[in-house]
Amino acid sequence: MSDGFATRAIHAGQQPDPATGSVITPIHATSTYAQDGVGQQRAGYEYSRTGNPTRTALAECLASLEGGRHGHAFASGMSATDAVLRAALRPGDHLVIPDDAYGGTFRLIDKVLSGWGVEYTPVPVSDVDAVRAAIRPNTKMLWIETPTNPLLNIADLSTLAQLSHDTGTRLAVDNTFASPHLQQPLEHGAGVVVHSTTKYLGGHSDVVGGAVVTSDDELAEQVGFLQNSAGAVPGPFDAWLTLRGLKTLAVRMERHSRNAERVVEALENHPKVSHVIYPGLEQHPAHQVAAKQMRHFGGMVSFLHADGPEAALEMCARTRLFTLAESLGGVESLIEHPGRMTHASTEGSLLQVPAELVRLSVGIEEADDLVEDLRTALG
Ligand SMILES: *Cc1c(COP(=O)(O)O)cnc(C)c1O
Repeated sequence: MSDGFATRAIHAGQQPDPATGSVITPIHATSTYAQDGVGQQRAGYEYSRTGNPTRTALAECLASLEGGRHGHAFASGMSATDAVLRAALRPGDHLVIPDDAYGGTFRLIDKVLSGWGVEYTPVPVSDVDAVRAAIRPNTKMLWIETPTNPLLNIADLSTLAQLSHDTGTRLAVDNTFASPHLQQPLEHGAGVVVHSTTKYLGGHSDVVGGAVVTSDDELAEQVGFLQNSAGAVPGPFDAWLTLRGLKTLAVRMERHSRNAERVVEALENHPKVSHVIYPGLEQHPAHQVAAKQMRHFGGMVSFLHADGPEAALEMCARTRLFTLAESLGGVESLIEHPGRMTHASTEGSLLQVPAELVRLSVGIEEADDLVEDLRTALG
């Protein structure tokens, strides 16, 4: 029997250091490795762009948590995304992307890859028929996120995986918002998973990183080749910080989810809140799908301020514990106004978000304190 998730989060890819007994994987701050003879490496390492033991430990742990055969740790979520797209796509290929894709992902595809001849169609990925209708003869990839940002739409992983198998395309899932503790796309039939480990996996808002996990040997080899060729590697300290974060992922995600439920309950009963968006709510349009594929519903909550855009903006500046900031997934609670902050560039486009929308990344503080903070800020 294989170990459970929380056990693998602490032990996968890591053994006490054979040379010293150090329980924790060392930060191997070295660019190069002594060889015993020409071409005779001691442990398979020759140069740290190509490989570094701290990074290997992280990659193996990430692969184990997502249930994949191969993991690669990257310098950022965007460099991980870039590697998957460039490994899998060639000029003239087409991919389907979420119409509410992470802004950086959209920019990379729209401004960089399209210049190299890659075509794309944005669709609402919660609508399987819309995804199916967007598939063309040259479609090679379905790229999805679930839950999406900031409207927390849910895509049905197993249905889309079936669609990708039927159409000879590859399903790629950006699993950043859920983390592997809540949802494991490979288990549902996805071909590859990408993460911004900057968010829940690192979990402490102190390091930027990314990951690619797949059981597809060929894709893994291409991703590794691209990483070594282009060099988007995390340094050993970044890899170590992320490994340290992973050890508490299971307990943090339980608490993030429980605190989010408390916050949702308080917001639902507040007269200044007209609508709460959370996949755990029964009235969420894809609640059943979320309940089927997620262990809990996560720490991200969005809501509409009943008094409109100005009131939403003012409230974001009035919280005490929720820090006004972009990003998400850390132990501390954050609040932001997507229309003016993370999603300002979508103004006037199809992807525009409501101006009275507020997004919360609910941290792992005392739930009572978080609820009180929001109540006070709402007035
Ligand atoms: C933050 C984020 C990214 C980009 O990751 P970086 O680590 O900032 O490069 C990609 N996808 C999602 C869903 C994100 O939230």
